[in-house]
Amino acid sequence: MRPSSYPMLDAATAAATVLERIFVLGPEEVQVAQLRGRVLAADLHSTVRLPGLPLSAVDGYAHRTADSGGWLRVTGESAAGRPYAQDLGPGQAVTILTGGVVPAGADAVVMVEDVTSEGDGIRFASTRAGANINPAGADVEVGELVLAQGTQLGPAEIALVAALGRRSLPVHRRPRVALMSTGDELLELGCEPGPGQIVDSNRWALGAALEETGAEVTMLGIAPDEPGALRALVEGALLEHDVLVTSGGVSVGSHDLVKPLLAELGQIHVGRVKVRPGKPFTFATLGSDKVAFGLPGFPVSSLVTFEVFVRPALRRMQGHSRLQRLELPVQLGYDAQASGDRTDFQRVRLQAQDGVLVAHSTGRQASSRLLSMVGAQGLVRIPPGERGLLRGEAVTALLLSLD
Ligand code: AMP
Ligand code: MG
Repeated sequence: MRPSSYPMLDAATAAATVLERIFVLGPEEVQVAQLRGRVLAADLHSTVRLPGLPLSAVDGYAHRTADSGGWLRVTGESAAGRPYAQDLGPGQAVTILTGGVVPAGADAVVMVEDVTSEGDGIRFASTRAGANINPAGADVEVGELVLAQGTQLGPAEIALVAALGRRSLPVHRRPRVALMSTGDELLELGCEPGPGQIVDSNRWALGAALEETGAEVTMLGIAPDEPGALRALVEGALLEHDVLVTSGGVSVGSHDLVKPLLAELGQIHVGRVKVRPGKPFTFATLGSDKVAFGLPGFPVSSLVTFEVFVRPALRRMQGHSRLQRLELPVQLGYDAQASGDRTDFQRVRLQAQDGVLVAHSTGRQASSRLLSMVGAQGLVRIPPGERGLLRGEAVTALLLSLD
């Protein structure tokens, strides 16, 4: 098929077409130290209670509430990790430190600030049962579902895993991605561009975006606009990778060789999209267990199509339960032109004003202008049409980052 004869799919249909063909990678057991960012491959139920015994939440004195109001003899101490060895008897109190085990017989802890010393004892006003005690199992019970399959593991989740005594967990394998830039005009970083030459920047942008999404990236470098060389590079890469990501060479020019190559090696399911920037975005399956994303060459187009199509796909591969960025209603802070039959993903910064998120354009929205993407916190979706939207109108934005 000629590159210009692929049907133009709208953004939602193209995204669904990609996701339908994405497989979930199998599980592997990973040690706690390496879990950050990984996605849980099975529900995690606790086999222990947290805390295991009732613990004091404050520094103070463990006692029986029935004795409060009177004078109590202090008979010992319960510190964190060093419990009081006996049961607490009537008329007694035990000095207890935060995290100390509440001795059997005690039913409350009074804070040290609320106590007056009297000889080898103490006195304080009456207390209520359970005061300042974190009972056994109050935080986690045996058998409780603590982390569901599909959860991405961050600091809090990893802390919980360790607190439960688990040394490793089953998580989904990370996708192995081969990344390649195509184009005779491209130069390696550090080379001085001659006339018409540019430094390959997509490699670094997409490499970072892929790593942020959890992929293991192999940089294949620059492929020339020459069918034999391109094919050799791609075929070599496919042996050891789950995913091929290319940039450039997917438009309709005579030097655009990626679509014909993917059509030869597999099947193209998305060949053009009604998306701006990023019309030539291409997605193909290569056999039963490999996929390829042909991203457009223009830097902003490659990053926007990565966000809209590639990132959700890589998250599905890793078993993520949430594939999409949060999409929120926002108010346009500028007049936005529409792009005919294409959904326009415009780059914005977001500002909260009177309880509403207002989207401000990052400036000229050219697909070559990386500065339109730099610092962008969201992509507003300007729907297809002729009219465009005016400042103050409601629209939705994919949240990229709020930093
Ligand atoms: P293409 O889709 O191959 O026609 O590329 C369109 C334009 O994107 C080129 O003319 C370059 O200006 C730019 N471009 C392509 N590849 C890269 C790259 N790897 N890094 C930076 N810009 C690129
Ligand atoms: Mg090119």
